[in-house]
Formats: sequence, structure tokens, C-alpha cells
Amino acid sequence: MDRDAILLTPGPLTTTLRTKLAMLRDWGSWDADFNNMVAELRRQLLAIVHGEETHTVVPLQGSGTFSVEAAVATVVPRDGHVLVLDNGAYCKRLGKLATLMGRRTTVLVRNEDEAVLPSELDAALRADPSITHVGFIHCETGTGVANPLQAVSDVCARHGKGLIVDAMSSFAALPIDARTLRFDALVAASGKCLEGVPGMGFVFIRKAVLANCEGNSHSLAMDLFDQHAYMEKTGQWRFTPPTHVVAALAEALKQFVEEGGQPARLARYTQNCQRLIDGMTALGLKPFLRAELQAPIIVTFHAPAHPNYDFKAFYAAAKARGFILYPGKLTQVETFRVGCIGAIGPTEMQQAVNAVGEVLREMGISTAR
Ligand SMILES: *Cc1c(COP(=O)(O)O)cnc(C)c1O
Repeated sequence: MDRDAILLTPGPLTTTLRTKLAMLRDWGSWDADFNNMVAELRRQLLAIVHGEETHTVVPLQGSGTFSVEAAVATVVPRDGHVLVLDNGAYCKRLGKLATLMGRRTTVLVRNEDEAVLPSELDAALRADPSITHVGFIHCETGTGVANPLQAVSDVCARHGKGLIVDAMSSFAALPIDARTLRFDALVAASGKCLEGVPGMGFVFIRKAVLANCEGNSHSLAMDLFDQHAYMEKTGQWRFTPPTHVVAALAEALKQFVEEGGQPARLARYTQNCQRLIDGMTALGLKPFLRAELQAPIIVTFHAPAHPNYDFKAFYAAAKARGFILYPGKLTQVETFRVGCIGAIGPTEMQQAVNAVGEVLREMGISTAR
């Protein structure tokens, strides 16, 4: 069938035809038309977090992790000390990259089926004054947990510590307001809830913080201070920009605004998530998280406890019906994940649930419906 399958994955995800068509042009990276597009894109991104007064936004080539790495490299001085709040795989990745780039790193671990605890952060900051920055994942995509951004930001502000937020899978869907939150850096990317294509990230950095970040980065390419300075001076990216990705993101942003911005996107993803959980529960599949921890971004389900179940076969049968599922990322329990984000609505979600029902019957696992 010459039709794309629906991606129920947390990026890359299903995009609209408009967004895809925006990639059918070539742009000169030094050309004023492209640079104006980048400037407008940065203006719109900053408006989403209401950061016009306090923050600037610096785009960077690469997948989202490149921008997380660049944010830590740029914002944390080489003799800094990062405390990572860890309740899942992406938190562990943040701890690992901070360690690898030589920053002193401490990891505060919680179970994967719980949110990180602001009171525990408070105690850790009290116990170790050498900590300079806190690394925090807003939505832990490994499970789907929504972590408490406002409360963590409040604790960091009270202690005068820098806060680096990985908001990769939450930005543009969950509310993030730079006027009420205090963060030094907040990282997101093109191919998640903005529904662009993957290939670039962007980091919101507090202007007062960025001013003191010259020379922090140990890496040439990962230096957001330099990337920002060059972009402010010339309007251009330091190194070859992902021009087609930028054009697609600009088009995706137009649709984001037309849809009604973050509140509308959250409403649609919430509907997707509800339809998914209701439908899968009716099929006998159980979500891994308690409902109050679940972000409407990605849902982890327990694998069916049936001898016929095998993820590879399950995946292939769902794919044959036009839906791409996502493997689980937990080491202790067998799970799989289903993304709620992308250019899809509750109708596509219902079709996905119907397909999963068929697959389970075909595999002899379920007789429901
Ligand atoms: C997607 C994602 C990233 C970035 O992953 P890449 O594979 O590098 O794009 C980082 N953190 C979180 C929480 C994510 O969901």
C-alpha cells in the first residue's frame, strides 16, 4: 500500500501533508529568505514559553539529545556539579552525558512508576551545597510520567540553583511559562509535539545566564554561547543548517498557531490518550502507570501475560494494519509503548485500538470484542 503507516511513536511522528510539502524547496543557508524564516521561527518559539523578556532561544542541528548535551556543556561550568533527578531512561541518559563531558554528576534515583519528588530534591540540595545545577526531565518518555516542573523549579529558585529542563516530549503540549517558572535552560526539538520532522533541537536559555557562559563548552559544535553569538551577529547558523527541517518546522508552527496553540494541542493529545487507554483497557491491556502520573504524551502498557505473546510478532501484525508501535524501555517488566502525539486525532487512535484488538485475537491472546 503506497501510504505511510501511522507512527504511534514519540518522534519521529506522523506529520501533516502541509508540513511534508514544505520540505520540497532548496534554501541557501546564507540567504536572507532563509535567515528571515529562522528569525521568525525563533520569535514564535520564544512566544510559546512567554520568554521574550527573560530568555533567548538557540537552535542546534541534530537530534534532541545533541541539544541536551549542548545545554549542559554551555550552561554548567567545568567545575560545576549537576544533580540529576532520575525516574527513567531519559534521566539516566542526562546523567550519563553530563558525566561523559566531565561535569561532576550526582544522580538521585526514584522508581520508574513514580514521579520525582521536590521534597527529596530539597533535602539533597540542603545536604550538598556543592551542587550548582539540577537536571530534570519534564515528561519521562521512557514510561510517560509527568514530573512536577513547577514544584522543582520553585525548589531550585529557593536554593539559588540553576535548572536545566529536558522538555523534549512535553514542550508545546504541556504548559510551560517562563514568567512563572525559573529555568536556566529548557530543551526541546522539532520532531515532537510541534509535529515537525526530526533533525534539530532548540534551547531556551535565560539571557542573564547565557551572558556568563563563554568558554564553558568543551566542544566546538555543542557550544550554544557561540552558536547564539554568531546567529545574533549574522542571522546565520554557525555550521550548515538543516534547511529542510527548518522549513518544515516553520510550516508546522503555522499549523500549531492555527489549531489554537498549546492548550488546543494538549486537548487533542488528552483525547487521544483517553481514547487509547479506554480502548486498550477494554481489550484487557493494563497501563503501567497510575492515572495521576500519566502525561498525555506516551502510554506504557504491560505486555499481555499470555504464552502466545511476542513483541516482534505483535509489532509486525500491527504494522501490517498500518500502525507503528513502540517497544518498552523498562528492564524489570515486559511492556510496550504507544505514543499519543503527532498529527493524529481520536479517530486514528480508535482505529489503532481496533487494529490491536484484531491482532490480539489473531494471536490467540484475547477474545475481547
Ligand atoms: C525524544 C527525547 C529526547 C531526545 O531523543 P533523540 O533520540 O536524541 O531525539 C530527549 N529527552 C526526552 C525526554 C525525549 O522524549
